[in-house]
Amino acid sequence: MTDEPILSYLTDMDGVLVHEDQLVPGADEFLAELRANETPFLVLTNNSIRTPRDLQARLRHTGLDIPETAIWTSALATATFLDEQRPNGTAYVVGESGLTTALHEIGYVLTDSNPDYVVLGETRNYSFEAITTAIRLIERGASFIATNPDPTGPSRDGSLPATGSVAALITRATGRDPYYIGKPNPLMMRSALRRIGAHSQSTVMIGDRMDTDVISGLEAGMRTILVTTGISTRASVEAYPYRPTMVLDSVADLVGRTKEPFAD
Ligand SMILES: [Mg+2]
Repeated sequence: MTDEPILSYLTDMDGVLVHEDQLVPGADEFLAELRANETPFLVLTNNSIRTPRDLQARLRHTGLDIPETAIWTSALATATFLDEQRPNGTAYVVGESGLTTALHEIGYVLTDSNPDYVVLGETRNYSFEAITTAIRLIERGASFIATNPDPTGPSRDGSLPATGSVAALITRATGRDPYYIGKPNPLMMRSALRRIGAHSQSTVMIGDRMDTDVISGLEAGMRTILVTTGISTRASVEAYPYRPTMVLDSVADLVGRTKEPFAD
């Protein structure tokens, strides 16, 4: 394994820094240490509903002060990908402001008239009409992109159907699978690394899920830390054919050692 120094961090948001709207104890000190040391970092989320500015405000309520520019959503990763593939293209979007803003800002025109892409993101207001339009545009040749494959998302009252579930509906109707940009696609990690000018071999990916955060960090060439404040448990690690570089109870355990997280 590489012993290159750790110069930068990518960290998942939900289950690592916050739980719904609750701060994970110590997450504020962890981020404060990164900022004090001027260690570049990005906070990642697969959720494409909110803009970084909205997320910044939401996080501030929980007690986390994160600059807007340190937040990387699957919507931003999707916009970056489309800009590289087809600059100044056109898209029909089923999603919310997090996604439409990202696409607008990258120079895309949003239209239902013969678009290059149908881009599906997360929303709490799916309409039969919008899904019908998406299906017909894909039938007529638009490429099908989705921000993230998550079938469900968390809420206080139980699961919410998420982007992957609606994508399944469109796939069933059209016979076409989307190309997913968010985790576990390592593309999201690579665009995040580029965004902060970081290199995979000197960056750590922190996450709470083996099947998304750890695998995509690994596939992007980073060392990974699983924290057990979210979905995956220590016991569940054994069920996977790959493992994180390190397992910790919480990001709080990194406070005081962010420059050398793997030192004995
Ligand atoms: Mg998570």
